[in-house]
Amino acid sequence: MNILVINAGSSSLKYQLFNMDNESVTAKGVCERIGMDGSVLTHKPTGAEPVVYNEPMPTHVNAIQLVFKALTAEKGGVIKSMSEINAVGHRVLHGGEKFSESVLVTPEVEAAIEENIPLGPLHNPANLMGIRACKEIMPGVPQVAVFDTAFHQTMPPKAFIYALPYDYYTKHHVRRYGFHGTSHRFVSARAAQILGRENDPNFRIVTCHLGNGSSFAAVKGGKCMDTSMGITPLEGIPMGTRSGDIDPAILEYVMDKEKLDIKEMTNILNKKSGMLGISGISSDFRDLETAANEGNERAQLALDIFTYDGGKLIASYIAALGGVDAIVFTAGVGENDGVTRARMCENLGFMGIKIDAEKNKQRGKELDITGEGGTVKVLVIPTNEELMIARDTQEIVNR
Ligand code: AMP
Repeated sequence: MNILVINAGSSSLKYQLFNMDNESVTAKGVCERIGMDGSVLTHKPTGAEPVVYNEPMPTHVNAIQLVFKALTAEKGGVIKSMSEINAVGHRVLHGGEKFSESVLVTPEVEAAIEENIPLGPLHNPANLMGIRACKEIMPGVPQVAVFDTAFHQTMPPKAFIYALPYDYYTKHHVRRYGFHGTSHRFVSARAAQILGRENDPNFRIVTCHLGNGSSFAAVKGGKCMDTSMGITPLEGIPMGTRSGDIDPAILEYVMDKEKLDIKEMTNILNKKSGMLGISGISSDFRDLETAANEGNERAQLALDIFTYDGGKLIASYIAALGGVDAIVFTAGVGENDGVTRARMCENLGFMGIKIDAEKNKQRGKELDITGEGGTVKVLVIPTNEELMIARDTQEIVNR
């Protein structure tokens, strides 16, 4: 079975074609600058040279048409015709409270994704465009929606209700939803598999997805009990450019001092804060580490705040779970940056969390980095959201 996985953004569209007989990727690529001048598709067939298409893509429909052209082309093509694609899995940001698992796209599902646009104003419209473009170009091929929020729907109310007037929840759906759910689900399931605890309802993990955006989840018996992102992906620890948790009273104070309106303030919290805001130089952890090693104090401070807040969050989730069996690191920083992993855990030794300095020097692959005397397993598990989307899609269309 061939499954196409699509992650549509407002001006970009990433894709991977999976052969589910062996879960291999036959090709992947990205369309950039959709709806703008200079749009380009970079297509990468596995084991062959990339092919670049500099062709206009005024809409997502054009982008997907170009993806099909690339997938079936003589040069770099991996299938003979579109009919070889059996189903399409779409990453969708916000499923609100309606979706606790992946679903076959129906008109009702499309309407629900549309209803959730106010909760995911940047992503949901783009995700819908991806779904509608595929429906138009390949009618009859099953489309599956996989939501970033779905895994977190098992959280109990004490973890998802904000301490605001309760009406805001009942009237306006203001609550913690959490994001990166597909990643937390993938790595927590893989950790259970690695440690032979797949069907153990008491297996407790803290999953740490550390990338440009970062989030943590407390997972028990495969179910999410708590997570650090909120109604939007702005909450939690400071991230590449996002502030994470701050005192909400700062907004009025700073807006007044800097003469900002709420849109400008929100933009600053999302795009100019976090590691970039503190360091003043970059949101990229590699740049920050280079700068810190050269003596840049604000770059070091940004990294210190990230690891300090991350360590506090891990400890708070261990308290929430009443103990822990494994800590899992994933995503760009979590998979590659041993220094950050070690520093985030440096104060957690008293809870049995120890990291082996030598094993921790490796990166980018599955690792058990538990140190001597550690009673909690510390694992690095590369995330694979696309594979999870492909697996869900296969499972749903085979039902
Ligand atoms: P993601 O959002 O998961 O793609 O992660 C992107 C982040 O991972 C960027 O801030 C990168 O700087 C960071 N990253 C990738 N490789 C490394 C590395 N070897 N060391 C430190 N950070 C890394």
